[in-house]
Amino acid sequence: PVYLDYNATTPVDPRVLEAMLPWFTDQFGNAASSHHLFGWEAAAAVEEARRQVAHRIGAHEKELLFTSGATESNNLAIKGLFESSPDKKHLITVRTEHKALLDVAAWLETRGVSVTYLETDTEGRITADQVAGALRPDTLAVSVMWANNETGVLQPVGEIGALCRKAGVWFHTDATQAVGKVPVYVPAAHIDLLSFSAHKLYGPKGIGALYVRKGTPLALQMHGGGHERGRRSGTLNVPGIVGFGKACELADPDLSALALLRDELERGILSAVPGTRVNGSVKYRLANVSNLSFPDVDGEELLLQLSRIAVSNGSACTSASVLPSHVLKAMGISDERAHASIRFSLGRFTTPEDIRFTLRYVAGIVADLRRSS
Ligand code: PLP
Repeated sequence: PVYLDYNATTPVDPRVLEAMLPWFTDQFGNAASSHHLFGWEAAAAVEEARRQVAHRIGAHEKELLFTSGATESNNLAIKGLFESSPDKKHLITVRTEHKALLDVAAWLETRGVSVTYLETDTEGRITADQVAGALRPDTLAVSVMWANNETGVLQPVGEIGALCRKAGVWFHTDATQAVGKVPVYVPAAHIDLLSFSAHKLYGPKGIGALYVRKGTPLALQMHGGGHERGRRSGTLNVPGIVGFGKACELADPDLSALALLRDELERGILSAVPGTRVNGSVKYRLANVSNLSFPDVDGEELLLQLSRIAVSNGSACTSASVLPSHVLKAMGISDERAHASIRFSLGRFTTPEDIRFTLRYVAGIVADLRRSS
């Protein structure tokens, strides 16, 4: 099948794999605790990778800690903040966040934190003014994702960051879908905490990072041997970290060539399948994503029929459930239309042939489904 699900995960780039391999076998030392060459070499490799990863987002390497992925980074950021400041009990976030943020917020609610869920417009965007309007004296933090995983919609994080800094409120962003796809520079966007993950940018699964701006309080979530400057214990995943570093070094957020392919696919489907609509802003959007809804077809039937392309409907991370996407619903899209929506997400290894095949294939299947319904 043609793989068009890069927002779910990406293949490891061969250059990343090559960089990782020695750290599984010959150079297997423990980066944290060894008093010998094996450990020192591993520690040096980790620090080199930390520089590469920090550089990708404009951070200082001391402000970056490695985690198992963006889910853990979000948990550490938000729970860590609220546990460190028990007197402030209000969080502001958005309805269209990933479950890895919304479920943390829901858990905090069971612990007495009150959460404001901002509503987006029909294009999936919020404004800094909405954030300003939701601030309260007991607001501790604001969490707004940089780019949405389902629609690719970009939020005005720079404006929100500036507002939060001025208001004395911590600003966290889940930038899992943004790093490697748009320029991410934490100082300019006034970010205090930023989550991201290697497997969305051609690195391995199970390794991610949390950027923690100097001075940001975080209560520990993982107690133990005091790794990562005491902020996240556990023996470091050296091959994963080295791979993440290499992936960040290779990442080029200029996706203008990929945007041409995405546009070809989107325009082609829109003209071949009358009534198709794009979900989310087309102006403020990642260059690799097209989320389309096909009226007059059954969504599940459509996904089943599309067996020769790997795409997703709704969030890949919750694909076990058959509920319509909470992201599309939050944008005011009906359940029926949300069900009949498909996310195409392109990536580094997508070819023009992939796109031409997908175009003909999707148009054919939707036409068949409509005829039979
Ligand atoms: N946040 C966003 C926006 C995502 O797209 C994902 C992955 O789907 C995650 C968090 C979870 O990342 P990880 O798989 O590294 O835990």
